[in-house]
Amino acid sequence: MEPAIKYRLIKKEKHTGARLGEIVTPHGTFKTPMFMPVGTQASVKTMAPEELKEMGAGIILSNTYHLWLRPGEDIVEKAGGLHKFMNWDRGVLTDSGGFQVFSLAKLRDISEEGVAFKSHLSGEKLFLSPEKAIQVENALGADIMMSFDECPPFFESYDYVKKSVERTSRWAERGLIAHQNPATQGLFGIVQGAGFEDLRRQSAHDLVGMDFPGYSIGGLSVGESKAEMNRVLDFTTPMLPENKPRYLMGVGSPDALIDGVIRGVDMFDCVLPTRIARNGTTMTSQGRLVVKNAKYAEDFRPLDPKCDCYVCKNYTRAYIRHLIKADETFGIHLTSYHNLYFLINLMHQVQDAIEQDDLLAFREAFFEEYGYNEKNTRNF
Ligand SMILES: [Zn+2]
Repeated sequence: MEPAIKYRLIKKEKHTGARLGEIVTPHGTFKTPMFMPVGTQASVKTMAPEELKEMGAGIILSNTYHLWLRPGEDIVEKAGGLHKFMNWDRGVLTDSGGFQVFSLAKLRDISEEGVAFKSHLSGEKLFLSPEKAIQVENALGADIMMSFDECPPFFESYDYVKKSVERTSRWAERGLIAHQNPATQGLFGIVQGAGFEDLRRQSAHDLVGMDFPGYSIGGLSVGESKAEMNRVLDFTTPMLPENKPRYLMGVGSPDALIDGVIRGVDMFDCVLPTRIARNGTTMTSQGRLVVKNAKYAEDFRPLDPKCDCYVCKNYTRAYIRHLIKADETFGIHLTSYHNLYFLINLMHQVQDAIEQDDLLAFREAFFEEYGYNEKNTRNF
């Protein structure tokens, strides 16, 4: 049987671990490295699918936990799956719900069988197991699915993380067995192990042995420093097979994207561009710009003079600031559009730099203009 997800390595950059590649899904092919917009509730906040296509998004992410609770996977399945339900005919990836159970839910109780917890919406008692997560993901019908895993805090003790990694491997195997649609949905394994190299190695070894069509790197961007994250990526990506895609979960600041690509990561996702957009904050080639600030009241330039997105071609900082101050939702739509475009376009530039074996020079120029330095690397 042909796997649902295929990865083709086009070329490796000469001076770094960066890879130019292509992922073939049942809903189209997209080039990597790439950034996936997040549509938590089957909607990328304020954005129409047509606009996401216009900016070149090849795949978006939706959250299993949220859709399971509301509207329920049975309704999405009756609608013909997530693609039809949300009118999106390109790629969709669903997470397993594990991260939300561990971060949102109250009073969770972890056992070998799964996790008991209370819904953050209704307080209802619920239980999520590897089998249940896969059943929900099968009903949602995304092209790429995630194994149910535990994401322990980065600074948890070695003994705890070791037990957690071993359980996550057993859960991954149970999920693989429960998976009903391997011909149309590709299930990824998630490498955990916090900051411990030997535990990351054990996790990668267990999962690679199960031959998933792709591998996610979880448990990062959860409060550790950027240097810590890069240290973990330095030793983790070489543990993963070259002929499968690698997905760094929950990472979306421009510097972390570039530094992840340099370490061999192909896919990223994050709520960052849309979340900061709702607070009137934008990413520009000259760094972070808080457009709702008073100093932009009479600034009739675009958000980013170097950006050629629809927003920057048509609207001014002064107008967008006015809309956000007046609580007009169109303002948030404009900042969301620009921020998503910025990251998708950044990855296109990164792809070109890999093509030309010029990624380190690209990084240096980008960091310089954006205003990143060793002490100040997370100002998105
Ligand atoms: Zn723009």
